[in-house]
Amino acid sequence: MHVLVVGGAGYIGSHMVKLLVQRGFKVTVLDNLSAGYRDAVRGARFVLGDLFERDALEDLCREIRFDGVMHFASHIQVGESVREPAKYYRNNVFKTQNLLDVMVARRVRCFIFSSTAAIFGEPVRIPIDEEHPKQPINPYGRGKWMVEQMLEDYDTAYGLKSVSLRYFNAAGADPDGELGERHDPETHLIPLVLQAASGRRPYLTVFGNDYDTPDGTCIRDYIHVNDLCEAHLLALQRLWEGGNSAAYNLGNGNGFSVQEVIATARQVTGREIPVQYSARRPGDPARLVADSRRAQAELGWTPRYADLATIIAHAWRWETRDS
Ligand code: UDP
Repeated sequence: MHVLVVGGAGYIGSHMVKLLVQRGFKVTVLDNLSAGYRDAVRGARFVLGDLFERDALEDLCREIRFDGVMHFASHIQVGESVREPAKYYRNNVFKTQNLLDVMVARRVRCFIFSSTAAIFGEPVRIPIDEEHPKQPINPYGRGKWMVEQMLEDYDTAYGLKSVSLRYFNAAGADPDGELGERHDPETHLIPLVLQAASGRRPYLTVFGNDYDTPDGTCIRDYIHVNDLCEAHLLALQRLWEGGNSAAYNLGNGNGFSVQEVIATARQVTGREIPVQYSARRPGDPARLVADSRRAQAELGWTPRYADLATIIAHAWRWETRDS
């Protein structure tokens, strides 16, 4: 089986490539390196390219008969999506449609889509199951929800089978220490906490401690990047076995506050983590926690690194890799 991993040089994509290669799949990575790193792609063919170049994509799919496509190439910053919606709709929606159109034209039937908890908007109930209302509140979430709806229509009309995986807070790093999170700029909590622990940053800024939560800081559901990747593989295998298109929420089902993340990071690293408090970051809901029972029941998925300390320990090994 040969899998095309679009965005395979990025954070989650590179972990996915490593897992696929380990499990004996052939892998081709397509990445424009706008946010990824060539050296993060291990054991796979690398093609430098952009989904905007539809002809080149079609040529690639003519050259190789892919059995499935996983799509990780998207912009991921909510605040930026509010300031620059055109960038987000062009990249995350329009270019994804190019990919789907080429798949339909070349009869590649199985697609795994990186979706997000941001499609739900402000939660009306916790934990968030798949049927929770979809009311995204920013262009990032709206674009992802548009693609999910597009996928339903492409299945009905063209028979394209897909699984949309709605990540809650992807975190952690390759347990072997070879890969990790390298966003520039980094906006995610756990790497920023660890950069404050290692001294790469003077302090962590906590965005708001006046939320309606026990300690006033936001609660999130952190899910290990390798557990996400296992879910992708199970989802693709389910489609290969003739399963229907579906969407799953992926998290551990446990919420941790920003303060709890900092406290756990202090324990794991044994370091001081200087903290400053600032105003809320616009668009951050107080709580996001997944109900992932459907993924567990239908995909047979069980998170292996569910423990927050383990997630942070793997990320810490990556943060301190050169020291
Ligand atoms: N956060 C924070 N300081 C930071 C980065 C994040 O307090 O420097 C908080 C953020 O407000 C949110 C949580 O940490 O409540 C997780 O944010 P992140 O950007 O990692 O993921 P998101 O939940 O936005 O997808």
